[in-house]
Amino acid sequence: SGKFFVGGNWKCNGTIDSITKLVSDLNSAKFENDVDVVVSPPFVYLDMVSSSLTDRIEVSAQNSWIGKGGAFTGEISVEQLKDIGCKWVILGHSERRHIIGEDDQFIGKKAAYALNEGLGVIACIDVVPSWDNIVIAYEPVWAIGTGKVASKTRIIYGGSVNGSNCAELAKQADIDGFLVGGASLKGPEFATIVNSVT
Ligand code: 13P
Repeated sequence: SGKFFVGGNWKCNGTIDSITKLVSDLNSAKFENDVDVVVSPPFVYLDMVSSSLTDRIEVSAQNSWIGKGGAFTGEISVEQLKDIGCKWVILGHSERRHIIGEDDQFIGKKAAYALNEGLGVIACIDVVPSWDNIVIAYEPVWAIGTGKVASKTRIIYGGSVNGSNCAELAKQADIDGFLVGGASLKGPEFATIVNSVT
C-alpha cells in the first residue's frame, strides 16, 4: 500500500475566526512522519490558510474548473489554485454529484485537466452501495500493452471517520488513509486521525 494519506475536507464551513483557530491548532499539532496531510478549506479562505499553515500540511481546493480560466463566472481555475500554493483538488465529491449535479464526464474532464497541470487529484467515487464484492482494476490506458507499468494508486476511505474509529479502520490492509469531513474541523481530533497510521 502507498503512503498513508489523510485529507480534511472542511466543506462549506468556517469563518475567519474559526479557521484562524483551526490553523493554529494544526500548526501546533504533532504528526507522524509517514503521512501526507492535506486540508481543504472553502475557496475564500484557501489563500489565507495556504500562507498561514506550516509546510508540513498541504492545501487542497474542493473543486476546480475544467480548463483554462476566462469567461466562466463563479469558477476557479487550476492555474489560480497553483498561483496561491494549492497542491491538490477534491473532485467528484458526492455532494457535488448529488446536490450540484456533476456527472462522471464532467468530473473526468476536470481531473484530466488538473492532473495535466500538475495538481494532485483526490478523486471521489460515490454510487457503489457496498464494496464487499468489488475489486478495483486500476488500468491506465497508457499502461495497456505498452510495456510501461503504473505505480499503485492509493485508496482512502471517507464517511464518518472520527478520532474513535480511525485506529480500527487504519488497520485494514486496503485503506491507505482517510478523507475526513466533520472531524477535520477540530484540530486535535484531526491530528488523532492523522496519527492512526500503522
Ligand atoms: P464526514 O466525515 O463528515 O462523514 O464526511 C465525509 C466526507 O464527505 C469527506 O469528504
